[in-house]
Formats: sequence, C-alpha cells, structure tokens
Amino acid sequence: MTKVIIVEDEETLVRNLGEKLSGDGFTVVTAMDGEEGLDKIRVENPDLIVLDIMLPRLDGLSICRIVRHDPATAHIPIIMLTARGTEVDKIVGLESGADDYIVKPFSLGEFLARVRAVLRRVSSDRAVPQDELVSNNLRLSLTGRRFFKDSDEIKLSNKEFDLLAELMRNRGAVLSRDLILTKVWGYDYFVDKRTVDVHVRWLREKIEDDPSNPRRIVTVRGVGYRFEG
Ligand code: CA
Repeated sequence: MTKVIIVEDEETLVRNLGEKLSGDGFTVVTAMDGEEGLDKIRVENPDLIVLDIMLPRLDGLSICRIVRHDPATAHIPIIMLTARGTEVDKIVGLESGADDYIVKPFSLGEFLARVRAVLRRVSSDRAVPQDELVSNNLRLSLTGRRFFKDSDEIKLSNKEFDLLAELMRNRGAVLSRDLILTKVWGYDYFVDKRTVDVHVRWLREKIEDDPSNPRRIVTVRGVGYRFEG
C-alpha cells in the first residue's frame, strides 16, 4: 500500500484530502502542525508527503528542507500546498526541494491527479536504471557517461551531459528552468537561471543541425525547454 502523509492545519481540508486518498486505496497519515508532521514523516516513512506551507510550530518550507537534508527521508517526494499563488512562492517551493506544488483552492480531482503524477515520476526514476538513452541519431551511454551523434563520439561537460540526459528522459515534456536547475544543479545550488540557457546553447551547438534554428531542444517561451527527439 502506498502511504501518504498529509501535513496541514485546516481540519476540513485534511479530512477531504484524506478521504479522497483513502477512497483511492492509499494509506493516509495526518499531522496538524509542523513538528508533529516532521516526527511522523520520520516514524512512518511515507511514500509521499503532502505539505502545507503555512503551519503552526514549524512551517512547510522548513520541513521540506529538513526532509531533503536527512538521508533517511531525502528520497521522499513532496507536494506543497500553498495559499500564496505568487510566482515567487512557487519558485521558493521548488528550490526548497518540493517535487510539485498546488495552489489553493484546488479540486480533489486535481489533487489526486498530481499525487498520481508525482508517484509515477518517482517510480519511473527508481526503476531499473537504463544504461542508454537513445533518440534518433543521438545516444547517451549513462554508465560510461559518453555521448554519440550518429557513430561519432562528442565530448560533453558534466553539466551538459546531465542536462541532456534530463531532457532525453522527459522527451516531449516541457521542463521549466526551475525544474532543470533542481534536477541538474541540485537543490542547494543557487545558480542563476540563465545558466540553464547557456548550457542549452552549448548543447545545441553539439546536437542541432542548425543551432540558430533548433529543432531538437526547443524553447518554450516564458517557461523553459522541451526535447523533441
Ligand atoms: Ca495552513
């Protein structure tokens, strides 16, 4: 059974989310304040944490950071609930190590869809590691950290390699700069978002037939990038 902990101080919301998840076959644990939440996360070892930002005793962002820095809990995916819908808060949520966030108010259907999506993403990340990522004439050997276009090996820097791997794994999906920073540069690495753009430009020089008119790594304006194949 997949166990989800809900750390949220609004009783009605806890009850509604809990019932929705139980009804869908999840085991549900709840905590009504931040300290209780952190204790239960450590004791219950849940498969997913649903975490409100504004909580009594210990706020959700602090919990998120603590969970990410503890090797025993660092792998557990986190969905943040936020009443504050500004862009800044969303970014803070993701930089703190959250896997996703939902802005209140949201429907229970949307909530369940997000829960399923995050769990699916995590389980595919943890599946037996693939040794190779292949897309048309590009081939990335993950264990050897080597990259080939057609049969020619092309040298990539470490970050270029990790960035291309992330793009190839998520072929067809839009990846935001924030997500790319989190995945490739790590949670604690507060690098400028333009770093992503610079590395994408370098990658394009190496994989695109015409780097000034990219067809493989396309820019999604205002959001990030999508690998087309
Ligand atoms: Ca709250």
